[in-house]
Amino acid sequence: MRCDVVAVGTELLLGQITDTNSQWLGEQLAAVGINSLLQVKVGDNHARVVALLARVLADADAVIVCGGLGPTHDDLTREAIAAVMGVELQHNEQVADVIREMFASRGRRMPENNLRQAQVPTGATIISQTRGTAPGLICPVRIDGVEKVIYAVPGVPHEMKDMVERAVLPDLLARSGEAGVIISRTLRTWGESESGLNERLDPVIDRLEAVGNPTLAFLASGWEGLKVRLTAKAATEAAARELLGTWEGEARALIDETVFGVDDETMESVVLQLLRDRGLSLGLAESVTGGLVAGRITNVPGASDVFRGSIVSYASSVKFDLLGVPAGPVVSETAAAAMARGVQRLLHCDVALALTGVAGPAEQDGMPVGTLCVAVAIGPEVHTRTLRMPGQREQMRQMSVISALDLLRRTLLAS
Ligand code: ATP
Ligand code: MG
Repeated sequence: MRCDVVAVGTELLLGQITDTNSQWLGEQLAAVGINSLLQVKVGDNHARVVALLARVLADADAVIVCGGLGPTHDDLTREAIAAVMGVELQHNEQVADVIREMFASRGRRMPENNLRQAQVPTGATIISQTRGTAPGLICPVRIDGVEKVIYAVPGVPHEMKDMVERAVLPDLLARSGEAGVIISRTLRTWGESESGLNERLDPVIDRLEAVGNPTLAFLASGWEGLKVRLTAKAATEAAARELLGTWEGEARALIDETVFGVDDETMESVVLQLLRDRGLSLGLAESVTGGLVAGRITNVPGASDVFRGSIVSYASSVKFDLLGVPAGPVVSETAAAAMARGVQRLLHCDVALALTGVAGPAEQDGMPVGTLCVAVAIGPEVHTRTLRMPGQREQMRQMSVISALDLLRRTLLAS
C-alpha cells in the first residue's frame, strides 16, 4: 500500500506558512508501515490540483489531501476531487445541520458561505467534523480500472490530526488488509538529550526493529518535553494496548527517572498533582522567566486549589526590598534561595520555586547567558541548583520554565 500526500495552499508555496502537516503525515504513515513516496505542495488553483491528483494517483494507491476545505471561494479541494472522481458535488443535509448547530451553539449567525462545506462528492464517505466546521472526506476513485482512494482533511493542524488518527489511518490499514487498530502512547521526558535517550534505549530499539511492532520515535517538543512515542497496531484495541503496555515497561526500565508524564500530561499538570496529593500549596518568585511559569501553571484547570501566586521580581531592587534577597549578585543560588524564602513568607505557601538567571543578550554578574539558578523551598528545607540552558533569549526562558518545574518535581518525589 502506498499513500502519497498533497498539501494545498498558495501560502505554502509563498513560504508564508511551513508545511508541517506533510511532515506529521509522513511520520504517521511510516509508523503504521504504509509507504509514502511523494509529498507535494500545490497552490489554490482548480486545474493544477486536479492535474496533480490525477498524476499522483497514477502511481499511488491512495493520497491524503490536506487544506482547502474551508468555506471561501479559494477553498477548492472538494471541487477538484469531484472532478478527479468524475462526479458531481451534492448538498449533504446532515453535514449542513452540524455546521448550523456549531454556529448556533456559539450564538453566531452562519454565513451562507459555510454551506459550501456541506457539499460532498457523490459516492464519498464523510469523516465527521468534531472540531472545525469542515468534514473530512473518504473518496473512492477508479483510475485505469483500479480502485484507489482520496482522503481530504482540513489544513488546520489539530483538525487534520484528529481526522487522520480517527478515520484515515484505520481506513488505510483496512484497505491494505492489515489489522484494524493503531494506538500510540507518548512518554514525555526531561533531563536527558535526544541522543542520550536514544543511547539508553538502544537495546529496546534493537528488539523493536527486529519485531517491527510497535515502532518507537523521538519527538523533541521544546518546553513540552522530549517525547518518546510508541505506536502499536493489532487486530483489536485490547491487543494493541497490551503491546503498548509491555513495551512501555521495557522502555521505562531504561529511562524511567526522565519520564515525567504520559500522553497529554504536561510538566505543570504533573507538578500540580504531586503538590495536591501531598496537600501542599505553591508560590513562585520569577525573575528571568518574568511570569512564564505562572502562565503555564494557571493554564491547568483546577490550579487554584494548589497555586497561590507568583512574584515577578525582575528588578534587583524588588528582589532586595520585597523578597529580602541579601546584597550581592542576583544570579546566584544564594539569591534564588532567598527569593524562595521571601515568597514562602509573603504568599504563605508551603512550597516555593524561585528562578533567577541570564537570558541575554549580555552576561550579568559575570555569569554567561544561559545561566539559571533555581531554588525549591519545601517547608524549612531549601534545595538550589545552577543549570546551563541552551539557546537564545526565548528558548532560554522556555527551557528554564520546564527545567525549574522538573527540579521541583524531582524534589517532591524525593521528599
Ligand atoms: P478549514 O476547513 O478549517 O477552513 P482549510 O481546509 O480550508 O481549513 P486551509 O485554509 O488550507 O485549510 O488552511 C487553514 C490554516 O491551516 C492555514 O492558515 C494554516 O495556518 C494551516 N495550514 C494549512 N495547511 C497547512 C500545512 N500543510 N501545514 C501546516 N499548517 C497548515
Ligand atoms: Mg481555507
